[in-house]
Formats: sequence, C-alpha cells, structure tokens
Amino acid sequence: MTRRDFMEDTTVAGVAFVACGLQGGVGGAQAQTRRREVVVNGKRVKTVDVHAHCAVPDAMALMGLKVTGQPNLPPVLAMSQAADRLRAMDEQGIDVEALSINPYWYKADRDVAQKLITMQNEKLAEACAANPDRFVAFATVALQFPDMAAEQLEQGVKKYGLRGAAIGGSVNGEELSDPKYHPFWAKAEQLDVLVFIHPQASGIAADAPGRFKGNGLLDNVIGNPLETTIALSHLIFEGTLDKFPGLKICAAHGGGYLPSYAGRSDQGCLTFPNRCTGQLKKKPTEYIRQLYYDNIIFTPEGMRHLVAETGPGQVVMGTDFPCPWTKTSVDLVLATPGLTDADRVAILGGTAAKLLGIKT
Ligand SMILES: [Zn+2]
Repeated sequence: MTRRDFMEDTTVAGVAFVACGLQGGVGGAQAQTRRREVVVNGKRVKTVDVHAHCAVPDAMALMGLKVTGQPNLPPVLAMSQAADRLRAMDEQGIDVEALSINPYWYKADRDVAQKLITMQNEKLAEACAANPDRFVAFATVALQFPDMAAEQLEQGVKKYGLRGAAIGGSVNGEELSDPKYHPFWAKAEQLDVLVFIHPQASGIAADAPGRFKGNGLLDNVIGNPLETTIALSHLIFEGTLDKFPGLKICAAHGGGYLPSYAGRSDQGCLTFPNRCTGQLKKKPTEYIRQLYYDNIIFTPEGMRHLVAETGPGQVVMGTDFPCPWTKTSVDLVLATPGLTDADRVAILGGTAAKLLGIKT
C-alpha cells in the first residue's frame, strides 16, 4: 500500500462517516463524535495510549497472512482505517496512540524478515506522518536475528522517527534474557528508547496448551499475563537489567502477575539460596520499580496496588485497541484512589510523553 492509497482510504472512511453525521445537519469531516478532552484540576492533559495495535496487511502478505481470520492475531485494524480509529480515540479521550504490531514474523527467514520489517516500519512511519498529532509508533524488529533487530531498531528510530521497539514476551520459545539477545538490548539502551513487551500467543499458552483448555479463554486471560510475568522475571533474575541498567521497558497488561505478587520474587532466594546462583545488584522488587506498566487492569483497586508496588511514575495508560478489552482507561486513572493530581497527569500521558518523545 502506498502513501497515496493510505490517504485515499482515510478519505473514504471519513466520507462514509460524514454521511452519518449529516443527520445532525452538520457537514464536513469534523462532524464527528466530539473529542473528549481530559482535564485534571482545570488543566487539559495530553493523554497517551502506549498499547494500541495495528497491522500492515502488505507486510503480513509476505508470510501469507491476512488481517482477519488469523487465530493467533488479535482483530487488528489496518491503519488505512485511520478515521475509525481517530473516532474511537476521540470518544475515549485518547489524544495520542503509540502504535505497535504484535510479532508474527519470528519464524520468518532472514530475507523475508528483512523485507517485512522494512516495509512495516515504513508504513508505520507513513501512518504517523498522516496524523502527526495523534500517532507515534514503535518499530518492529526481527528479534529472531538479534544483530539484525538491533540494526532495524536503529533504522526505525533514526530514519523513520519511530519511538522505540515493540517485541514479544518470548521468541520461538526462548527467553528475552538469553544472551543471544544482548545486541538488541544494548542498542535499545544506547538509543535510550522505550521497549514495549507484549505477550505472544505462541508463548506459554502454546507451551502448555492442555492447561488452558475449557471455558473462559484462559489461554488469553491467564496465558498472556503469565507470559509477561515470566519474561520480566527472567530479565530480572538472569541479570539482563543489571547488564543494561539504562533500559526503559514497558510491560503490557500491568506487567501481568509480577507486581501483584512481588514479595515472592524477593523471598525466593532468601528462602532457597542454594537455588540462586547469580548475584543480582538489587532486590528483585527494586527492578520492578524501574520498569513501566500499562494500566490494562480494569479496577481502581488493581491500579492502586500496581502504583503502590511500582510507583506512580511507572504506570502509563493502555487500551489494547482495537481489542475491545476496555474503553475506560482514562476513567480508571481518574477513579484510582490515593493519587495526587500530578500522579494522574503523569499516568494519563506525562510519563509516556517523556518516554516516547511526544510534545506536551
Ligand atoms: Zn494487546
């Protein structure tokens, strides 16, 4: 899809919407749902959503995949539907989305991976350029080839203006803490950009499929946060965060179960020191307080606890759009007990804006 196609698609979607809006007697592309403006203590806050999915169909086609009908992919919207997306953002009070694409290319060979990532990052940059006030994006990287992933991240940031990288919680069954991925972590640290970690459907839920069968989509409900919990725990306990202390990592879904049961992470090596061979520079819970987390955790009490365990400066907003998990991420921040106005401003967008280089 060329830039021109993208713009034309956007226009078409906009026209379709205006046809509905005409019922109200208001013409023009602005006849949209009124944009919700989030205000804290009388001050307008620029809100930022760090967890927003999209897809680049042309890149998926390189692996024979389509946006719809892929059981392992969320029902992502192509960026060509930008008008629909902006309308949803306006309704929810989201000013800026940091777009990401869940990795589906970790089994691609080197040539396909190279081509696919270049195309994808170009399209992400185009999508951002078409609505520069509303979208930034994370680069996609072929983490199965760590040296290439480091180059792709650098190119994504320097050439395409992308704001970091989005990666899976595991790579073909391997942990992100595996030393083979050090070149990628070194580059992310050197570039001082945010790395967003999102669980892979092909991760833990696929490793133990029998345990997630039955009622309740447990592969997603439990499997996804468990995948993130495992990924972050290895980054802590294998010393990756010691080796690259400047890393900025944001974990999806509130960091899974890690912050909710943080005390056990400290207690393990105290209770069973013979099982702990590596010496960490800090207590495990201190690393938990240096990572970042989105707020896809649904309840004010869950939010209160996440903030208590990690610090108000470590939580940012996420919606999981277009997966319909929540439409009330803003309200959740406003409803969380015990936050100061400054905390709320930081969580709604201030912290993410700093991490992603968004002007406030
Ligand atoms: Zn997601």
